[in-house]
Amino acid sequence: MYNPKSLKAEEFINHEEILETLEYAEKNKNNVEVIDKILEKARELKGLSHREASVLLACEIPEKVEEVYKLAEQIKKDFYGNRIVIFAPLYLSNYCVNGCVYCPYHHQNGTIPRKKLTQEEVKAEVIALQDMGHKRLAIEAGEDPVNNPIEYILDCIKTIYSIQHKNGAIRRVNVNIAATTVENYRRLKEAGIGTYILFQETYHKESYEKLHPTGPKHNYAYHTEAMDRAMDGGIDDVGLGVLFGLEMYKYEFAGLLMHAEHLEAVHGVGPHTISVPRVKKADDIDPDAFDNGISDEIFEKIAACIRVAVPYTGMIISTRENEKVRKQMLHLGVSQISGASRTSVGGYTQEERPHDTEQFDVSDQRTLDDVVKWLMDMDYIPSFCTACYREGRTGDRFMALCKSKQIQNCCHPNALMTLKEFLEDYASPETKKVGEKLIEKEIDNIGKEKVKQIVRERLKKIEQGDRDFRF
Ligand code: SF4
Ligand code: SF4
Repeated sequence: MYNPKSLKAEEFINHEEILETLEYAEKNKNNVEVIDKILEKARELKGLSHREASVLLACEIPEKVEEVYKLAEQIKKDFYGNRIVIFAPLYLSNYCVNGCVYCPYHHQNGTIPRKKLTQEEVKAEVIALQDMGHKRLAIEAGEDPVNNPIEYILDCIKTIYSIQHKNGAIRRVNVNIAATTVENYRRLKEAGIGTYILFQETYHKESYEKLHPTGPKHNYAYHTEAMDRAMDGGIDDVGLGVLFGLEMYKYEFAGLLMHAEHLEAVHGVGPHTISVPRVKKADDIDPDAFDNGISDEIFEKIAACIRVAVPYTGMIISTRENEKVRKQMLHLGVSQISGASRTSVGGYTQEERPHDTEQFDVSDQRTLDDVVKWLMDMDYIPSFCTACYREGRTGDRFMALCKSKQIQNCCHPNALMTLKEFLEDYASPETKKVGEKLIEKEIDNIGKEKVKQIVRERLKKIEQGDRDFRF
């Protein structure tokens, strides 16, 4: 039985409910009256149910699809303005006991070198990331209780936060590690993490079990119920995601939204972020082996429908995607991107991009300075803001501010001040020139005179060497 309030995976991600949803969507995909009603509801910015959003995803009427795209763009502007938050992944270890068939770190892969960073190496990686200008990291590690126990992850987080090189600092560490116990989530929370991110990979149980034939990750229920344990452990910002290309995208889409509805129903807080990765080429992995691969067009439609269905959530796209796709996705609702990522263990400290321990091929290989300038040339404000969790704005407190759009009063000035830090400390002369102009223009978009004045004062102070101002 489908029950969003249940704590059992198979009840809140209910297979029959998904099949009925897909049937309903198929039946109504050309029903203009139904589609218009859904669009009307979406315009109220209160989000859509998985059934409603699935109709929009299935819809093939060009004018209506265009309306969905326009609405996604509008919602993005309403909630996030023109700011794009920037982060980088940091790979700590590729030891893994699981058998995920789409990931090169799977246990049976005998050709990939195994590597785990020492604390000294973590320090060197963090300095390299700080020297690019990064302030926000997502740490990644395979599941291996012997090589990567929770104590190792906690040590790494401590090391990362402790390093201050020149004007650099990592101010928010998001964590992407395997499903674990309430007690371990509590320890992560105490270590001061930002968001806990765990991709479901696929919501289709049967496929899930085939794609994860061995290791603890084989347990569908334990994996799917991880966010509930994380929230029980006190982590109130969680990030969902599916790996598009593993199962039918319409099925995944419905499952993803049901998961978001479940978190709202049980914990009163929906997902802080939703990531949209696609299967990519890597050592021992051929994406063509998965026959559910999706085109760029479908991928963009998925992003637009997520934005319309869950307007308050941050949407993340990584360097798995190339510049062209990333550009298109920014218009349709993506609010966070990674920049200058290296997806190998120890990759940031090496001159040339290493490929030996890469988790996936990086399509967008530009430097952070290039990415920042690229965003500004398109009139986006690259933001290195990490203010919320440091100000205690997490979970339902954050969501209330976000849903009422008041959060913008913080996001916008914080984006300008953190961009200013980047321009002062790390930007090339050309990027700095473009950035200064953008900041000057964007100060005028701060609504309150008083805030405008404070921002101007703080920008001056940043020029004089002060750092880390925030609202
Ligand atoms: S996806 Fe994660 S759990 Fe699976 S093999 Fe890769 S690193 Fe291990
Ligand atoms: S103020 Fe909060 S929501 Fe806005 S960009 Fe900063 S951390 Fe994100």
